[in-house]
Amino acid sequence: MRVIFLDLDKTLIGEDYSPEPAKEIVDFLNEKGFKIVFNSSKTKAEQEYYRKALKVPDPFIVENGSAIYIPKGYFPFEFPYSREDESYYIIELGTGYETVRKALDEISDRFGLKYYGNSTIEEIIEFTGLPKELAELAVRREYSETIFKWAKEGFQKEIEQRGLKITRGSRFYTVTGDTNKGKAARILIDLYSRIEKVESYAVGDGENDIPMLEVVDHPFAINIPHKRAKKIKTIKELMEVIG
Ligand code: MG
Repeated sequence: MRVIFLDLDKTLIGEDYSPEPAKEIVDFLNEKGFKIVFNSSKTKAEQEYYRKALKVPDPFIVENGSAIYIPKGYFPFEFPYSREDESYYIIELGTGYETVRKALDEISDRFGLKYYGNSTIEEIIEFTGLPKELAELAVRREYSETIFKWAKEGFQKEIEQRGLKITRGSRFYTVTGDTNKGKAARILIDLYSRIEKVESYAVGDGENDIPMLEVVDHPFAINIPHKRAKKIKTIKELMEVIG
């Protein structure tokens, strides 16, 4: 079985956040029989938007490795999970949003930080370029924050001193609990491996994708240095290099 973990921002999804250009690559991966796992700093609500637009039914990893959403009935066996809702079993690896928010609120004035929690929808649209419809899905945060702007450096250390992790994505900084995209990908690879032998792939373009590239058999890196990864310029190149 082949499983591919895909970063969204600037990997599967381009500058304008439209799912349209991604259809070609999703079709290609479907044809090749891949399980397609989104692994992004985006929220559950945002990822559900892309899953629906691109008709991707597989599990997905939200908020930079903070939680794995597994559709109910997807795996033909029982596995441990943290909580469930109507549609998913959820494996939580990060910390709750309130913890992250509290740490940022403590230092935001000193460093001039702007993030979802202290920005208006209009500001979020200005900082991110998100269309309004998607900005409203991005504010539905469960585990992490995104720092769009800062007036001075040094906030990274303050955040780490509060026991949280701060990682650079392709656009902004993400603040989470003690997790990353690789930790979450590893858990899913182990679950898939209970069905049959897995050949794992991943594509990413940011520093926060490196832990995910580390845990797969076939890593692909867009514009970031990585020893083992095959370098590609855009995700479309996958169609030339994957047989
Ligand atoms: Mg990215």
